[in-house]
Amino acid sequence: MARAIVAACGTVVVPSGTWELTGVPAPPGRERPNNAYRPSSTWDEFDRRVGQAVPFSAGLPIDRDLGAISEAVRRSVDHVRGHHPLFSFLATGPLSEAVIAEVRLDWPLGPIEALAELDGEVLLLGVGHAANTAVHLAEQRLGRSRFYRYAKLAPGVWGELPNIPGESHRFDDLEPALRASTREVTIGTCRARLVRVRDVLQQATAAVARDAGVLLCDDDKCRCVAARRQREAVLGR
Ligand SMILES: [Zn+2]
Repeated sequence: MARAIVAACGTVVVPSGTWELTGVPAPPGRERPNNAYRPSSTWDEFDRRVGQAVPFSAGLPIDRDLGAISEAVRRSVDHVRGHHPLFSFLATGPLSEAVIAEVRLDWPLGPIEALAELDGEVLLLGVGHAANTAVHLAEQRLGRSRFYRYAKLAPGVWGELPNIPGESHRFDDLEPALRASTREVTIGTCRARLVRVRDVLQQATAAVARDAGVLLCDDDKCRCVAARRQREAVLGR
């Protein structure tokens, strides 16, 4: 299936994050405002977690919650993979080098900006907009969902990485605004949707600009709350 997607689409970009293997907790005493991430209670605990993690390398498997298709593309197709320690992307096809070149340590969603420049499209296969990473770019540009997270960088070395996206479980609230510009077919039991990255960015930007809390929930225990507070801080409230 991964080969069929690549054959049909030309250049394909998938998220290839490695949080499960490379991520570590925040170090003790380091709790940034509106970051929704608890630090380790002791240095012993932190050092143990750093010891268990592995540094990013291009051959690591992709986190399971990023979907079976991403990992299938990694395993079955020649590709280029960005070197972000937590939130990498990989790409295959004629424009893969140009897209992955936009990865920066301080701006992991650079490849989505490259896709928008190239007028690329988001393909949702059996998933909803909760899996649509382009929405995160719109909210980050408006100062929301910019979290600091921590990763093992090398043996005995860890680092803090900014602008890691947060919660997406309410992103399907964007569907009505995107319906007119979405092409949709059903393949067996799979609902397949195609929508331009530019349309996603335009609609998500308009929604967040109108209401700092849109596409977020009100659960105090959810990262959504911190994301909304970040946006309100940007607005000076
Ligand atoms: Zn939430």
